[in-house]
Amino acid sequence: MKLNLFTHLIREVPKLTNNQKHLLQHRLNDEINRGGTSLQIDKCKGDDIQCPHCDCDQVQRYGSASGLQRYKCKACSKTFNALTKTPLARLRKRSLWEKNLECMFDALPLWRVAERLNVAVSTAFRWRHRFLAGPTHDKTSEVAGIVECDETFFLESFKGNQTINDRPARKRGGIGNKKLKGDQVPVLIVRDRNGGLTDFVLDAPNNKEIHGALEPIITDQSILCTDGSQVYKSFAKGHGIKHYRNITSQGTRVIKRVYHIQNVNNYMSRLKTWMARFHGVGTAYLHQYLGWMRALEHAPACSDFTLEMLFNSAFKHEYVPINNKKSADDVDLEMPF
Ligand SMILES: [Zn+2]
Repeated sequence: MKLNLFTHLIREVPKLTNNQKHLLQHRLNDEINRGGTSLQIDKCKGDDIQCPHCDCDQVQRYGSASGLQRYKCKACSKTFNALTKTPLARLRKRSLWEKNLECMFDALPLWRVAERLNVAVSTAFRWRHRFLAGPTHDKTSEVAGIVECDETFFLESFKGNQTINDRPARKRGGIGNKKLKGDQVPVLIVRDRNGGLTDFVLDAPNNKEIHGALEPIITDQSILCTDGSQVYKSFAKGHGIKHYRNITSQGTRVIKRVYHIQNVNNYMSRLKTWMARFHGVGTAYLHQYLGWMRALEHAPACSDFTLEMLFNSAFKHEYVPINNKKSADDVDLEMPF
């Protein structure tokens, strides 16, 4: 803004009514927060800029748009910014992102988030969906050393789905039928002693599923620690890796002082406690919740998932909206939370 216009603007401020001053203050705060978040996005992105359209690193600065540095690719001539093709592309109201993140990690239900941020519930849902797109895919790709594995189960839920075809609707808070196959969704949790953590939502806790999940991530030098389940015994045998089975019914909890599954079991216990606050999680969204919990686990302090972590996670994952729509309205399922 030109200096004379700005001076004029400042001179006019005393003429505003109290209500107008409050509105202006609110607007300025929004702009300041938005500017701060935009600066942080560019700062996190750093100088290692590649064109998201063709991966060329011959790019030049090309002004700014929506508060973000804009770049132009010398190879394909397309313009882009730090968020182009990331899960956070084209999301509006950047000034509220930090507060949204706080609400998410306080695990507030969507209607409370919408109320607190003064946005539509559909916006709160879209943000959550996009904010979790990065963490959902942030998984350890290889575990090593002492590797602890165990399964946990979540009640199958069609929360968020429009139709239930397979069984009559369960009353709220139902415990499900543990004997009924398919009523419980098995999740395999794997963690090593160096912070490596990953999980797999399985169709069934059988050899095919568990061996298929473990094969790509376990190195030959790993030492497997599990419960007494045969499924792990056959995997370790087939892959020639050391295996310690902690059979609690026989009183075996720790072997040689270090071989146990207490870390993975403690994590599963934290996961279950944290999940309970959502009063049933739609099975279609289980991956997202597991990613959310892994993000919390890796945050410097619990519930301290920062914008910086969000941005760095988003930069790693290309995101294409459903049907490649230009609008941010890429929601394919009903709101589950
Ligand atoms: Zn390009």
